Amino acid sequence: MKIRRFFGPKTGNKSAIFFGVHGNEPVGREAVERVIATLEKEKILSGVVSFIPGNLRAMHHNKKQIDENLNRMFTNEHLFGNSSVLSYEEIRARELAPELMLHDALFDVHSTDEDTDPFALTDRKGNFVISHLPASVKSVLYGIDQFHSGSTDWFMHSMNKIGICLECGQHKDEKAVSVGEDAILSFLACMGHIDRRIESSPRVHCEAVNIYTTKTDKFTLTKTYPEFTPLKKGEHIGTDGEEKIFAPRTYDSLIVFSNPCEKAGEEAFVLAREI
Ligand SMILES: [Zn+2]
Repeated sequence: MKIRRFFGPKTGNKSAIFFGVHGNEPVGREAVERVIATLEKEKILSGVVSFIPGNLRAMHHNKKQIDENLNRMFTNEHLFGNSSVLSYEEIRARELAPELMLHDALFDVHSTDEDTDPFALTDRKGNFVISHLPASVKSVLYGIDQFHSGSTDWFMHSMNKIGICLECGQHKDEKAVSVGEDAILSFLACMGHIDRRIESSPRVHCEAVNIYTTKTDKFTLTKTYPEFTPLKKGEHIGTDGEEKIFAPRTYDSLIVFSNPCEKAGEEAFVLAREI
């Protein structure tokens, strides 16, 4: 699988669309194939658009990753450390980082295990694109960078560039492919590459405020929390060993990325506030 690039007749933005950063998420690849078919017919107006496959080996095996999560590898430590043994994902991140450095904006397309309403992750620089994403993208989360370093969008933000990660919905959901296709086309229109009507849609804007990291090797959730579930003040979220963990009592919060955990030091959930 090769990088596919389109060049416009005029100078303009250089935009990268990533897919398959997690190898078991086929939605991004299918959405990209559809967009490429469109661009082959319609051409682009300006700049450069590159479609770049992420974790090649994991995609081949339909696994999320080979050794570790590629979407945490874009840190100085992983990109420039001089360890004698590199993981496959460290090697791949060292190939992909120069691509990100060459582009002005990144749109990274993912899908999820669970059935989830589409949502985006970004920082303030991505606001123009975010406000013009299709109405199916219900929520946006800002500020996750302070808790997770080394994602592709984190790397773009560290260079003061636009970086957006889109979660399109469940891996096998046909609707998720359409969401991805539509969202990529909106992104390309916002970046000036294609002429397409873009409209603003209302959505829930949230800021990540806290992450809960487990203290014991047994963290269970009280129930399953779909992404962006509003929590009641003081609600019992889960139990870490013997200790009950509650939602904040002083403000309204939402929960994202919640998982039961079987090791101390794992990320059990993130709390966010609507902004
Ligand atoms: Zn993913």
